[in-house]
Amino acid sequence: MKNLLVMKFGGTSLGSAERMRVAARIVAEEQKKRPVVVVVSAMSRITDLLLDTMRHAEGGNRAAVEANLAALRTRHEETCRELLPPRKRAAMTARIAELIGEFERIVNGMAMLGERPPRSVDEAVVTGEWLSATLISEYLTISGTPAAAVNAREVVVTDAMFGNASPLMEPTREKARARLLPLLEQGVLPVVTGFNGATADGRPTTLGRGGSDFSASILAAVLDASELWIWTDVDGIMSADPRLVPDAEVLPAITYAEAAELAYNGAKVLHPRTLAPLVEKKIPVWSKNSFAPEKPGTKIVPSVAAQSATRAVASMSKVALLSLEPASPELNGVQVMARALDAVARANVEILLLSSSSYRQNFCFLVREEELSRTLEALEAALALELAHHYIEQIHVDRDVGLLAAVGEGMQGKAGLAGRIFTAISRAQVNVIAIAQGSSELTIAVVVRRDGLEKAVRAVHAE
Ligand code: ADP
Ligand code: ASP
Ligand code: MG
Repeated sequence: MKNLLVMKFGGTSLGSAERMRVAARIVAEEQKKRPVVVVVSAMSRITDLLLDTMRHAEGGNRAAVEANLAALRTRHEETCRELLPPRKRAAMTARIAELIGEFERIVNGMAMLGERPPRSVDEAVVTGEWLSATLISEYLTISGTPAAAVNAREVVVTDAMFGNASPLMEPTREKARARLLPLLEQGVLPVVTGFNGATADGRPTTLGRGGSDFSASILAAVLDASELWIWTDVDGIMSADPRLVPDAEVLPAITYAEAAELAYNGAKVLHPRTLAPLVEKKIPVWSKNSFAPEKPGTKIVPSVAAQSATRAVASMSKVALLSLEPASPELNGVQVMARALDAVARANVEILLLSSSSYRQNFCFLVREEELSRTLEALEAALALELAHHYIEQIHVDRDVGLLAAVGEGMQGKAGLAGRIFTAISRAQVNVIAIAQGSSELTIAVVVRRDGLEKAVRAVHAE
């Protein structure tokens, strides 16, 4: 299908009846010009609410479960009332009750077992996306753009890594085209749930928090879209998170590599894996503000001609630094490192930064806080013997740290840049704990004390 546009709307862009109306208007306008596929997140804060409900169920807190279910119902029923005309409300209210009822059944199962199996969480948590897709597709249809809600379970095929699944592109291509192209040919606009998929044998999965961006890029790739637009609540990709740096500026254009580095190092505006499916076909992405749709936004493209040195600063606060050191320099540090990293890889933990340089062969690496206990378990199991015989000093964990990353393709070969970054951080009186610069020279990553992180981000941004 020629000139296909995939558009993704994030949670705040669908956060109320009012926001859904705006989103529908944007969709309808584009749809007059070319075929459009829409990907939606859950309404803002709904995914957190669903996950919280499941945690309470596991812990046996019935009252909290009931309160959350009531909040879930109220939010969607109110949106339905404000969005749809009276004649459509009863049927939609019944549908909302049905979907929340299915969620409640899974939650009751968790309460009974006192357990929260990852695959059941994945099955239940996508209720948020399914509700928003159902609501907005109905609103689109009654306002003159025939639309159909599609559960991505039917179109995105993934591996079985529940909670953080990866797409299998070939089967996805087949399924997505078979399901979505006939709709488009009939003039029906597909509204696909973001965030989720299913294994080849039909078990529901999710792509990780913030995964709707990734869903949209997967679909753009397999449908050979000409563009992907990601609608969010800021004017595009900015030189820093505007919540931390008030004078951050919108970047008119950045490269896939820069956007991926920013996302990887904590810029929440894009899911870190969003750009991977698009690189091969060079499908351009726009990050745009649904609160100010007339603004141009940021274009993400394979390459940008003129480059200023550092383009943006990203940061991440919920991280932990692990350090290991062989008890004596005579022991082979590389072997210890290899064993440790192998254990971490098998536990499916992502290493955000790694640094090693010492005669004593110590090394440290940074992981997300939520992956820390898994990492420690894996390390302690793999290195049990070395630890028991004190070949390795204790595994040291520092939770009181944050990650800062300066990103830009133009940083390559720019003398003095690292020095300016470190000087800016030390001028802000923040201690640098570890440093890493990949050989691509695209990113300089620095671990600092957590309470100094925001100050450091502002200082580096100003510099
Ligand atoms: P959505 O719900 O639309 O997916 P997110 O909340 O996931 O939106 O991402 C948008 C948020 O990302 C912004 O509100 C902003 O605070 C944050 N953010 C972090 N870093 C950046 C950056 N460099 N540029 C723009 N936004 C950023
Ligand atoms: N709703 C999901 C989340 O909050 C996916 C997304 O918003 O992209 O993580
Ligand atoms: Mg997001």
